[in-house]
Amino acid sequence: MKGISKGQLIVVSNREPYSLKKGKLEKSVGGLVSAMDPVMQEMKGVWIAAGSAPEGREPSREAMRFMVPPENPSYTVRLVPLTPKDIEGYYNGYSNRFLWPLCHIALERIYLRRFYWHSYKKVNELFARAVVEEAKKDAVVWLQDYHLALCAKYIRELKPKARTSIFWHIPWPPHDVFRACPQRKELLEGMLANDLIGFQLDSFGLNFLRCVGRELGARPNFAKRTVTYRGTTTRVKAFPISVDFDWFESAALEKKAEGFIRRFRRDKALEGLKVGLTVERLDYTKGVIKCLEAVEFFFAKYPRFKRNFTLVMVAVPTRKVEPYLSYMERVREKVDSVNKKFSQKGWRPVEYIDRRLSHNELAALYRDADLAVISSIYDGMNLVAKEYVASQVDLKGSLLVSEFAGSSQEIPGAISINPYDTEGCADAIKNALEMKPERRKEQMERARWHIREKNIYRWVDEVLGELKTIR
Ligand code: UDP
Repeated sequence: MKGISKGQLIVVSNREPYSLKKGKLEKSVGGLVSAMDPVMQEMKGVWIAAGSAPEGREPSREAMRFMVPPENPSYTVRLVPLTPKDIEGYYNGYSNRFLWPLCHIALERIYLRRFYWHSYKKVNELFARAVVEEAKKDAVVWLQDYHLALCAKYIRELKPKARTSIFWHIPWPPHDVFRACPQRKELLEGMLANDLIGFQLDSFGLNFLRCVGRELGARPNFAKRTVTYRGTTTRVKAFPISVDFDWFESAALEKKAEGFIRRFRRDKALEGLKVGLTVERLDYTKGVIKCLEAVEFFFAKYPRFKRNFTLVMVAVPTRKVEPYLSYMERVREKVDSVNKKFSQKGWRPVEYIDRRLSHNELAALYRDADLAVISSIYDGMNLVAKEYVASQVDLKGSLLVSEFAGSSQEIPGAISINPYDTEGCADAIKNALEMKPERRKEQMERARWHIREKNIYRWVDEVLGELKTIR
């Protein structure tokens, strides 16, 4: 682990790395927290996140600032308290009803109100104030994601010499899409207050530089991937995020994974069948309905696979507001209609699971599945694809990834699919199921070799290594 040799590291994200549940501190689940927790412990940094005071208490300074992890308190979590109105405006509103569909080129899903923007600005400023209160002279600030596009600008206003970077986990759209944003100039200026901007793919960085050129009249240097605007030079670089390869590999190899699969196959009447797997948050960007249409087409075109193959679809509702509630309804209806059309003699084409599974359960399912389908219509990276590869210890499965997900460009050995080409996807499922085992093994070995190397720890190292070099 490289870390930042000297200087204080401040990470800022919407979600907290630890939260208080029933008086106990619990670590949040997710790749970023798992990878950054040991780094933060070593560097004794500060992690700033949105949060409320525990158990409804008035937010006192002590309640909003505590040391973690509980067994070895070594770094500080500082919570920024938000009101229900802030959460509606900044989080549900501007971040999730506006920036999320904008960046995923889903313009017809956009819903925007003026108060969302005011709230987004207010909350970004609250985060900036917390950063400035915590920052020592040598601090390096690392902002996470689309909730914090303006934060660096407010930090700069309060502390002009601050060193800041943002990692944008989702795509950055082409200018023709981005210009649907009424606040586009302010957003770009907010981003350019950072010394370094990380994207998942170089193509997102190029989209960003083109937007800056068109909207602000700044002259990006495309060869160097930099842009100078109002005296600050910002570097734009791709850092494809990854997963903890070793963790998924070991979890897939555990004895209890085998037991879980045996019970799962028995309870769902899947014994002896080929199994396909999809795993996602229930989000319209994940192409869930497109995937179901492809499966419907597959059974209509290749009926010999009836009672032979089932798609296990794990689709977890996370954002329980519109338009997600309506989307969930549509997905359920589609699952029911496909099952009604093809089910026979105790066999179903789709096994739908709408509860969140643990990573241990997922590792077992990933290991067992004969293929995984990632059907996103647009996706920054897609970690499920990489988790599947890391868990494929028997080298028996195929990974089918939408060409609109960042991971399809990155993982060698993955089979590209186009979710808009329903018949093409159906054919890809059939071809994967009929592929010679040696070919499947060779493809999976290549994918595993890549992800073993390019794992989440390497990602953190690369970003922190780059942060070291700023100003
Ligand atoms: N996930 C999980 N349990 C579930 C479904 C998903 O823990 O039942 C996790 C999954 O393992 C992955 C993350 O949710 O780590 C989804 O990340 P991804 O990049 O695929 O999509 P995102 O939800 O960030 O858009």
